[in-house]
Amino acid sequence: LPRIAIVGRPNVGKSTLFNRLAGRKLAIVDDTPGVTRDRKEVEARLGHRPVLLLDTAGLEEAPPDTVAGRMRASSEIAIRQADLVLFVTDARAGLTPSDRAFAAWLRRQSVPVLLIANKTEGRAGGMAAMEAYELGLGDPVAISAEHGEGIADLYTTAIGMLPEEEDPEAQERDRPLRLAIVGRPNAGKSTLLNALVGEERMITGPEPGLTRDAVAVEWTDETGGKVRLVDTAGMRKKARISEHLEQMSVGATISALKEAEVAVLVLDATLGMDEQDLRIARLAEREGRAVVIAYNKWDAVEDRAAARRALEDVLQASLAQLKGITVVALSAMTGKGVERLMPAVRQTVERWNRRIPTGELNRWFEAAVARHAPPLVDGRRVKLRYATMPKARPPTVAVFGPRAEDLPEDYRRYLVNSFREAFDMPGVPIRLHGRGGK
Ligand code: GDP
Repeated sequence: LPRIAIVGRPNVGKSTLFNRLAGRKLAIVDDTPGVTRDRKEVEARLGHRPVLLLDTAGLEEAPPDTVAGRMRASSEIAIRQADLVLFVTDARAGLTPSDRAFAAWLRRQSVPVLLIANKTEGRAGGMAAMEAYELGLGDPVAISAEHGEGIADLYTTAIGMLPEEEDPEAQERDRPLRLAIVGRPNAGKSTLLNALVGEERMITGPEPGLTRDAVAVEWTDETGGKVRLVDTAGMRKKARISEHLEQMSVGATISALKEAEVAVLVLDATLGMDEQDLRIARLAEREGRAVVIAYNKWDAVEDRAAARRALEDVLQASLAQLKGITVVALSAMTGKGVERLMPAVRQTVERWNRRIPTGELNRWFEAAVARHAPPLVDGRRVKLRYATMPKARPPTVAVFGPRAEDLPEDYRRYLVNSFREAFDMPGVPIRLHGRGGK
């Protein structure tokens, strides 16, 4: 995504503009949180165009020098990463020497600069904006960040200055996989996250100053794809104060699952899978998420064959909805086996994403119905005529025919399992809808 930096001297309204462009719902990516603030990015939209706003807030409190010097120091970092710079001036206060010095410096940089005259609401505003021409950075766009005036103009002009849009396919490839790491306390979620991301990157919570709904950690896995962790409040708290007596928060787990595409369910292999683990797995299934099991603490398991069998038994008996779910035995602590996790996750997500062409789907459907005909409902046979796949993520099959909405549970289960096998979708929740009519 193209990156946009908002720069200018203190109090010209950068934060107000930042918040206006970012909107209320912010997703923050802190990839080196805590230490430097220079790489913080916020997803936003300029009209239809998704962009990343570089958050340079706080940089101004850097060691005092001249105002212009501080602006420059803070902006250099942002500008180095930006595809477009929004240089904000305060039209009411008028140009100051530091604006001019900064503009002179900006003119020598290679990044495109869009000049913004802020605080131009009301009558005097338009006139005040004229002064900004003197900065030699082209036509200023007059706005009032606070009142939301001129923002449409700003969008249009800024979009015109951004690099060409990438093709949708490339965008899809670049889009990070949204992953939730779930499991009960002490299963090893934090340890696993660190093993996946690398020790040096820790999670931190939201920082004051902006409205922040979600905090994410992003990294590139061994397949070369980006992954974004969908955090749960519990993990965040944990990482912060490294406290080991965390309560499993069902609410946090559900909200993480809602945002994620895929869940890694971390189990403690020395304890096996119990009711609490099953409950989490069922939540993931209910939310329609692809699931992979990380069978953690494998280093500490003495009888591995028995541990494997025990898990198999529980899965068979109690988790038919996610039949064939991939289990990766690993040790988050030693790192052994961790490299097999993300490839398994990617494969499961691919299945979860898959759309079956209608022809292929109906060849399966006819064979399945021929092999095992639908039962009588209230003494009358349910006729199934054809199937469609209205959506993927999770795979959803609709079967049509008179009274198809009344299909009994065990026949639905038969169709789901048959579909899962025919199209190789282990570990993926599958939805089946019966649609009545002629
Ligand atoms: P969380 O509550 O799920 O985030 O669990 P933590 O990551 O804090 O781990 C809980 C405890 O299990 C810690 O004492 C870890 O050191 C330990 N642990 C985590 N992964 C492993 C592992 O692979 N092997 C062993 N033996 N211990 C582990």
